[in-house]
Amino acid sequence: MIVATGQALLFPGEIFQRMTEFAEAAYPYEGCGVLIGTPGPDAAAVSEVREGRNLVQDRRHDRYELDPKDIIQAEKRAREAGQEVIGFYHTHPDHPAHPSQFDTERAWAGYHYVVISVDAGQLAEATAWQLAEAEEPGRFEEVPLKGGHRGPGYNPVGLVAEAP
Ligand SMILES: [Zn+2]
Repeated sequence: MIVATGQALLFPGEIFQRMTEFAEAAYPYEGCGVLIGTPGPDAAAVSEVREGRNLVQDRRHDRYELDPKDIIQAEKRAREAGQEVIGFYHTHPDHPAHPSQFDTERAWAGYHYVVISVDAGQLAEATAWQLAEAEEPGRFEEVPLKGGHRGPGYNPVGLVAEAP
């Protein structure tokens, strides 16, 4: 998938709510999953969030390794629906919603990465990121996350209706 960076990420409210439930249920460990939806020139729209397994055993409070099987299953489901895997989410238990160096180093270009801060079991903030293009080493840049709540770039859910 080749797309330009700097695209907003649009969430229908109920999809964001579902991701919030996954994120809070994973606490105090890092949760992670896959975002399925539709890429577009200016914004990508999420249509489904799938919870994944965190394969990390010893540092589950501050590391995640999404099970590749979950990615393969999500790819299959997305294809069947005429959509794509457009990104991934993971949580930061009791830490800010800012990607770590570790997150940045293993991110793939073109995908959206949602980082969710879960504070004492409750969603505190969600942010969305993409790798800046043509940079070595890679650097994340924040992009607007719309349709969710309690994060920067918050917009009422009604705006999502304008999504492609
Ligand atoms: Zn992280």
